[in-house]
Order: sequence, then C-alpha cells, then structure tokens
Amino acid sequence: MAKVTEEQVVQALKSVVDPDRGADIVSLNMLSGLVVRDGNVAFSIEVDPKRGAQAEPVRHAAEKAVERLPGVTSVTAVLTAHNAAPAQPQKVDHGYAQGHGHFHGQQEQKPLVPGVKAIVAVASGKGGVGKSTTSANLALALAANGQKVGLLDADIYGPSMPRMLGIQGRPVSHDGHTLEPMENYGIKVMSMGFLVPEDTPMIWRGPMVMSALQQMLGDVNWGELDVLVVDMPPGTGDAQLTMAQQVPLAGAVIVSTPQDIALLDARKGLNMFRKVDVPVFGIIENMSYFCCPNCGHRTEVFSHGGARKEAEKLGTDFLGEIPLDIQIRETSDEGQPIVVSKPDSEHAKVYRAIAKVVWDKVSANLPKAGPRIVVQ
Ligand code: ADP
Repeated sequence: MAKVTEEQVVQALKSVVDPDRGADIVSLNMLSGLVVRDGNVAFSIEVDPKRGAQAEPVRHAAEKAVERLPGVTSVTAVLTAHNAAPAQPQKVDHGYAQGHGHFHGQQEQKPLVPGVKAIVAVASGKGGVGKSTTSANLALALAANGQKVGLLDADIYGPSMPRMLGIQGRPVSHDGHTLEPMENYGIKVMSMGFLVPEDTPMIWRGPMVMSALQQMLGDVNWGELDVLVVDMPPGTGDAQLTMAQQVPLAGAVIVSTPQDIALLDARKGLNMFRKVDVPVFGIIENMSYFCCPNCGHRTEVFSHGGARKEAEKLGTDFLGEIPLDIQIRETSDEGQPIVVSKPDSEHAKVYRAIAKVVWDKVSANLPKAGPRIVVQ
C-alpha cells in the first residue's frame, strides 16, 4: 500500500472545522509539529489555553479524519494549550522556593499544581540505568514512610509506569476537564502510557513534550500531595532542560550506575539542574554491586564506591546504593516493585532509607506556613 504523505494528512485535516472559530484547523493555523513516518502520523493542535479540554472534540475529529486515509497505521494528535513560546524561558515561582535568593523579585505565577507541596525530579544522564525502577520504588518508599505521594511518568518516549506498577485501563474524567490519576499501592499515577496504546510509536518535538507534560501536571486531579515524583525522560537534551526549567521543581535526584559515573554522564545531569537553579538532592548509585541470587555473595562488577567519591567531588550528596539484583528486575517486570512486594527485604529498606533522606531535604525547603497561594 502506498505510504501516506504529509500533503494528504494536511488535506484531510482541512475537513476538520473548529466549531468555536468557524473555520478549519489548517486555515486557522492550529496545526503544528506534523510528523509522518511509515504510516505513523503525529501532530499537535494548538488551542487557546482557556479552552483546554473543551477542544477535545476537535482533537478527536482530527484523529478520525487522518485515520481514514489509506496507508495510515497510527495517529497521535495532542492538544497544545500554550501561547506563543516566550523569548526567554519563564521561571515559575511555585511558593516553595522561599529562601532561594534567585526567585526574589520575579513575577509570581499561579502554581501549576496547587495541592502539591513539592515536585521532585528523578533524572539520569542516559537511558537504561534504572531511572524508572528507582522512581517507582522511591515513590512507593516515600508512601511507605507516611507521605502522600504521586508519580508522574514524564518519560514519554518510553512510559513504563503502567507496567511497573501493574496498572491497566484508562484514566477517567468526571468533569470533562481534569483527568483522575490512576492509583495502585497507595500512590496516584499518571503516564502517557495510559493515554496512548503501548505499541504506538511516539514522535515528539520539544514544544509537544512540554505541553503534554504541563497537561499531565496541571490537568490531572492530583489532590493534596506531600510529594509528586517525576520520572524524567533520560538524558540531558533540550526537552529535559526545558522541563527542568519550566516545571516548578523542589529538587532533583540523579540515578546513575557506577560505569556511567565514570563516563561523566551523571555529571551532565547534575549540571543541567544547576544551570536552571534546581537544587540537586544527590546521586543514587544503581546496579552498584551484584548480589548472587543463589548464595547472596556480593560482587563488585564495576568499581563500586565510585559514586560516593564522585558525589563528594561534585559537591552533592550520595543518597545510597542499590545492588544489581534479579529480584529488583523481576518484581518491577511483574508490576509489583520490591518495596511493596518484599517490604522487609534489605533492598526495600535501602529504598526507604533513601526516601527518608529525600523527604528530609524536601521538607527543609518547604515554607513553614504551608504553600503560598497566589491569586491572580
Ligand atoms: P531507565 O528508566 O533508566 O531506562 P529502567 O528502570 O527501565 O531504566 O531499567 C532498565 C532495566 O534494568 C529494567 O529491566 C529494570 O528492571 C532493570 N533494573 C533496574 N534497576 C535494577 C537493579 N537495581 N537490579 C536489577 N535490575 C535492575
């Protein structure tokens, strides 16, 4: 079958009328970021931020119009509800940065997620170091320690939280505006993986990444949370930098393996947050040493202990070390992370100890009288 072309997609989208504005979405210049690759089509539709989820029927109609074209195997349309990109990246004063001199004198903006006391990013210099496994176990460990916790899977290139946390189904909306987060093991979870089928290839451009993330932060009914853990996309490219800049982060945790510490990838992650004035709470060394599943013997595969030294050199804290252990992999693959499936194991205790340090650091930065409410 002949492959679908960009022209054909645009032509099809000319039949989609925005009822609010009385013209088609192409002539209204609402279409952006169109990518067509081997029958997989992705694009975003820019709408006025005030309309938000009300524009959903337009998005749906656009998807349907493209789906009907011959040669199309998947369509992903997202609403982007942002204004023209500001010349200077904006910094959002989220109210928990009091005492951080660099926020003073800046214009205050409405906090993105009003009921959430603190947002903590979990990042890594590159993929495959166990960032998502660590995010899931850290979030569950914070909950086990008594905090009210949410987990946002911002790893939109490869969302893994639905599988890791054993959650299936789609989030619902009671009011047509905000999505209810999914829940398991006592934490609230949102992931692109709930919204898009797992086999849909995702092609994202920077602005689309940001608006998807902003919607997952702002248009989700997170309720009252002590901490929202954000599993960041791996790496330190533009998308990650923008995210670090525009999401009101209380701090960041860097996950790293011993060998990538040696290769300086962790340093890149650390510098990215420093560049945008986000405090780095410290480094977690994952796959730090190998635990033999048969005899429990401990082998230092890569020169273990490097992270502690490197953290010192970099002027940040070493938060703890997690072994390379088959149980950690198996439990997350089964959707039952070790912190909840084997709460008395040594590994679960390590995650809880790290969670305690992270929470101590978060609470040290929280304003005493609760988050400031900014009325616009
Ligand atoms: P990332 O999010 O950095 O890409 P993942 O968390 O998806 O990495 O982990 C990559 C793979 O490594 C997964 O199969 C995961 O189960 C496994 N893994 C992560 N941490 C550990 C660990 N400490 N011990 C054993 N396997 C691990």
